[in-house]
Amino acid sequence: MKIAILPGDGIGTEIMAEAVKVLAVLDLKFETETALVGGAAYEAHGHPLPEGTLNLAKAADAVLFGAVGDWKYDKLERQFRPEQAILGLRKHLGLFANFRPAICYEQLTHASSLKPELVAGLDILIIRELTGDIYFGQPRGRRVAIDGHFPGAEEAFDTMRYSKPEIERIAHVAFQAARRRNKKVTSVDKANVLETFQFWKDVVTEVHAQYPDVALEHMYVDNAAMQLVKAPKAFDVVVTGNMFGDILSDEAAMLTGSIGMLPSASLDKSNKGLYEPSHGSAPDIAGKGVANPLATILSAAMMLRYTLNQPEAADRIESAVKAVLSAGLRTGDIWSEGTQRVGTRAMGDAVVAALSGKTITTITKG
Ligand code: NAD
Repeated sequence: MKIAILPGDGIGTEIMAEAVKVLAVLDLKFETETALVGGAAYEAHGHPLPEGTLNLAKAADAVLFGAVGDWKYDKLERQFRPEQAILGLRKHLGLFANFRPAICYEQLTHASSLKPELVAGLDILIIRELTGDIYFGQPRGRRVAIDGHFPGAEEAFDTMRYSKPEIERIAHVAFQAARRRNKKVTSVDKANVLETFQFWKDVVTEVHAQYPDVALEHMYVDNAAMQLVKAPKAFDVVVTGNMFGDILSDEAAMLTGSIGMLPSASLDKSNKGLYEPSHGSAPDIAGKGVANPLATILSAAMMLRYTLNQPEAADRIESAVKAVLSAGLRTGDIWSEGTQRVGTRAMGDAVVAALSGKTITTITKG
């Protein structure tokens, strides 16, 4: 097994160091190789996704990714901006299924903006289609309108489209994921208004015939947005298109309190994947040693579960994270009165200690 380690920019390098430390104590056999990506790669090689990095990612079984970006690159031409590295990796690795679990740890229920009883024990999985929809549909652009409400006026347009195989493959991923969980899929669409999503609904229903053991419900996206804050625990697996998934996965993320806790995975057709925290490079806190490394550590756990076929090791990491939270350790983003504030390195050390069966009492500085 080979893991490509791409720390990236800002807090990316700090949080990745902790995830690598955690992987190292698991006593598993794998090789790792680190490469530059994002702004760091642009500085060194003139491109956010240099050929060497892309080739490493292609050759590896899995990619563990930190975060990229910094405000100082905002003025660069789009193709050289750090975020282009993520889009390039998704495209070249054929990553079409984005998994975003929203788990609310018992110890952090107060950190959510919802009432604790609504989120305590929350464990849902949002699966977002990643390569189609209005984000990539052609044609798109600006032109002078020849019809509509204001003919002759300047206008912009995008194209929403999904092909049958694109919907089928993400539907299979969702039903299979539900089989490993509570056997329920909610397919989110806007079939009442959009032809594309009436088609989506029809195809998902067709695929469902192959999964009689999994329950399927259809929900309009506006209702789904409402239900996510009204009764989030009623969901198990949510599957939806690129744009609705983009929005709903961020909404679901905030149910859990902090973006610093949320892992994610983007998978291809053979479950090879890129694993990364849901947050960005947080330039506002970069270099201060205060970032929460748990989202990256939990992303490493997802990598072990979904790509490297090591579910026991994944369970061990997740239990270690719970143990650390139960011991009262908190980075700044999840800190509250009565808990102990620690830095990035101390949090990583505590997870390592929990994995090694040590009691988490004393904490290293930093
Ligand atoms: P961000 O996620 O980096 O930060 C948002 C807020 O959350 C900030 O206040 C930050 O300090 C905090 N935060 C984020 N991660 C944290 C952690 N692990 N621990 C504690 N606090 C944390 O989003 P942003 O500020 O909108 O974007 C910053 C840069 O990151 C931009 O250049 C953006 O393009 C990039 N970005 C990259 C990715 C990615 O690499 N996948 C994703 C989103 C944004």
